[in-house]
Amino acid sequence: MPRFSTDILIGGEWRPGQGAPLVTTNPATGQALATLNAACPADVDEAARAAARAAADPAWRDLLPHQRAQVLSRIAELVEEAAGELAAVQTADTGKTLAETKALALSAAATFRYTAAALETAEEALTPSRGAYVTMSRYEPIGVVAAINPWNSPVASDAQKIAPALAAGNAVLLKPAAWTPLTSLALGRLITRALDERALPAALLSVLPGSGRVVGDAIATHPLVGRIGFTGGTETGRAIAAVAARKLIPVSLELGGKSPTIVRADADLQQALAGVLFGIFSATGQSCIAGSRLFVAREIYAEFVGQLVERARALRVGPGTDPDTQVGPLVHHAHRDAVAAYVDLARAQGGRVRCGGAAPEGEAYRDGAYYLPTVIDGLPNTARACQEEIFGPVLIALPYDDEDDLVRQANDSVYGLACGIWTRDHRAAWRLAHRIEAGTVWINTYKQFSIATPFGGMKDSGLGTEKGRDAIRAYQRQKSLYWSTSDAPLPWAG
Ligand code: NAD
Repeated sequence: MPRFSTDILIGGEWRPGQGAPLVTTNPATGQALATLNAACPADVDEAARAAARAAADPAWRDLLPHQRAQVLSRIAELVEEAAGELAAVQTADTGKTLAETKALALSAAATFRYTAAALETAEEALTPSRGAYVTMSRYEPIGVVAAINPWNSPVASDAQKIAPALAAGNAVLLKPAAWTPLTSLALGRLITRALDERALPAALLSVLPGSGRVVGDAIATHPLVGRIGFTGGTETGRAIAAVAARKLIPVSLELGGKSPTIVRADADLQQALAGVLFGIFSATGQSCIAGSRLFVAREIYAEFVGQLVERARALRVGPGTDPDTQVGPLVHHAHRDAVAAYVDLARAQGGRVRCGGAAPEGEAYRDGAYYLPTVIDGLPNTARACQEEIFGPVLIALPYDDEDDLVRQANDSVYGLACGIWTRDHRAAWRLAHRIEAGTVWINTYKQFSIATPFGGMKDSGLGTEKGRDAIRAYQRQKSLYWSTSDAPLPWAG
């Protein structure tokens, strides 16, 4: 594991921030990994001004799209080469398994590569003319944009915002979560290198760790910031949306979830079991899309949940660095305690904890932020544990009677992020996929992603989408042009 630099990236310069010290810990051991000097509002101001200059610098502003695409392709190469190191840093900082963090690093590289291709092949449309003129819509960079991200998958969330924002011709202020700044800083080093190799302004990217309330707010409210891409919790998302409303700037919000996973009686039960386990317990349940509410047809409920509990008990809990680990620690001890408090609340409200419901015992787990895979049933869908996002390895199982009952319960949530449907009946899958309110529906699979497919949430799960070809457009302003093809003066003036 490399020794971590205490520097952060402010307006193209690596130096300590002037904010409060920020200690980041390894949740598998409870040991401090690094103490950074976080950013402060004055650093944010400096970064924003330098970003505005960089965005307007002809060296960047006048690059043709295919030349910007070359920069993105180079970043993709560097991220791919450094995937092992990025994975090690992210596992140390977040606790996630190395298998997952390696996949996230490679997906970040793929995002840069895909975005380069999308940029190369993007077209601007001629729009129908109604007279002696040609009209067209073109797209321009916004200038300085903010990317504010949570702690659960830093490298992938960072790439999903930085790649389209740079492709669109902007400069980016990146705000990683206070618990996990190290991966974003490591990614920042690679992007700085790619910019440097082409003598492009270094201030096109700043990485500004610190608290959300201070540094995040200073970024979002900064007058030079013309767009905010935000991923995080719903309440923070509302605060960001309020800032965007005041400033009248575009915003995209990727927020929380409480996604239903549905097992019909006609499902392939072994496939469904594997999918439900993966959907909730991979990443230790710390996925916005975690399938955290399980609805099982009443006729197979007892049998299915019984088998699920057996399988959940057998999952291997351990440090993310152990190749055998399936369920790593939670990101932070404070988060583990918040998850445990939800389980206590579920118990107090009459829930039956069928497995887990505690930290694992034993010397190996003593100092880490571990929590056992937990299955709870016996709660009504109105209970807080069924309605609120727990963001940990906690699955709530509920029976359903028929399709209308299922749809009513599944949609009885403020969230609308994802849904999983396990069935052999393709007609039922089709009907349910249309009736469930969710931005992404998986049928006989779960947590599968394609960079080319837009991702976003409905209801309190968000506003707007990321990924796909349109991602670049979201970081641009549209401008319409009219060109006369006639020599005649306009008739009005006679
Ligand atoms: P969070 O909302 O607490 O923080 C997210 C980011 O916002 C952090 O960088 C934080 O420092 C910053 N922030 C906090 N307050 C701010 C403010 N007032 N102004 C500006 N920035 C501020 O979320 P978290 O706990 O880091 O992450 C977990 C949440 O993220 C969960 O709800 C999860 O569902 C959600 N999430 C959503 C998606 C998605 O794509 N929909 C993906 C991953 C995580």
